[in-house]
Amino acid sequence: GQCALWCPTGAISECDDSEKVWEAIQDPGKVVVVQTAPATRVALGEEFGLEPGAWVMGQQVAALRRLGFDVIFDTNFTADLTIMEEATELIRRVKGDLKKPLPQFTSCCPGWIKFCEYFYPDLFLNLSTCKSPQQMLGALVKTYFAKEKGLNPKNIFSVAIMPCTAKKFEANRSEMKDSGYRDVDSVLTTRELSRLLKKHNIDLTKLPAENYDPLMGKSTGGAVIFGATGGVMEAAVRTAYFFITQSPPPSGLLQLTPVRGLAGVKEAAVEIPGVGRIRVAVCHGMGNAREILEATRKGNAPWHFVEFMCCPGGCQSGGGQPRTAVPPSDEIRLKRIASLYNADAKMVMRESHENPDILTIYQKFLEHPMSELAERLLHTEYISRGKCFSPLKSGAV
Ligand code: SF4
Repeated sequence: GQCALWCPTGAISECDDSEKVWEAIQDPGKVVVVQTAPATRVALGEEFGLEPGAWVMGQQVAALRRLGFDVIFDTNFTADLTIMEEATELIRRVKGDLKKPLPQFTSCCPGWIKFCEYFYPDLFLNLSTCKSPQQMLGALVKTYFAKEKGLNPKNIFSVAIMPCTAKKFEANRSEMKDSGYRDVDSVLTTRELSRLLKKHNIDLTKLPAENYDPLMGKSTGGAVIFGATGGVMEAAVRTAYFFITQSPPPSGLLQLTPVRGLAGVKEAAVEIPGVGRIRVAVCHGMGNAREILEATRKGNAPWHFVEFMCCPGGCQSGGGQPRTAVPPSDEIRLKRIASLYNADAKMVMRESHENPDILTIYQKFLEHPMSELAERLLHTEYISRGKCFSPLKSGAV
């Protein structure tokens, strides 16, 4: 049956898709493509006795190759693409070119999206229409990748390794078939991947670091920090600054300290020449979200852009991550977060618009952010869910 669990904290355990994925790997008629979320690379190591936050990006790629995946892409690539699309959408709203209200809300956390669909459907126009990086990559695997390699998308099986149980629900949403097929066929959590590796005697710690496959394997520091609360916002601000001014963001914007850390609601203001002061907010946990949503309902929201994440500290402590401690302690969360920010600080390319493969995909395929094709494959719409679960309104009571 269909698994529609979306508990973002993993209090309800995941519907395990490992067998389905293993069958696809064994099927010689299938090209099995996998993508890995930003946050898995700072947590998978814990399942193999490494310290919380241990950076295992290259080992994870090697392990997936040993398991038999044909092509290994990085969700970080489409995190960069999300930023291109979302920053463009934001600028259009701020300049009044797009007749949609401010603040713009981020849309990459399916737990948050479902919360908004149940309790705040009146604020749908505030939601960015961007799909999450997982779903963008899924749609591109069965279109762009299939076209580049001359493959029939029908024979592609697309898998996502995610820190998150809600991502299973998201992949199963009926509208996520813009490639003409189900865009993401299966989602495995970080814990499910570790079980699969152990079952096949693959020890992550004994593997050399390997690289992602070309086409959708490159990413920037802006994408890496998606795994921490505040990361999407910070990456979007870097690129929005560049889009508006055509010059690189000042160093303060490469370390937007006020939006980092574990406070429930964080705020910052950024001066961008040409448009003035842009006010942003970041919140994690839906209790904190209500403050911002109620202010928006009353017309009292001073912000231009707000990031929402269900899980405390963002995806690095998602419901599919290793349970080194239950629930993850702040100490573990902060170690994983520090690892993501360290990786960002060390990268040569830190802004999504610098990614050469992103420039290529626009040149060869998508044309420009929010083009007709980009709108079709990378953007989505939302479903008001509150009414169908109201027993009073439905007459069930
Ligand atoms: Fe999933 Fe990340 Fe949202 Fe948590 S914050 S529900 S891990 S997308």
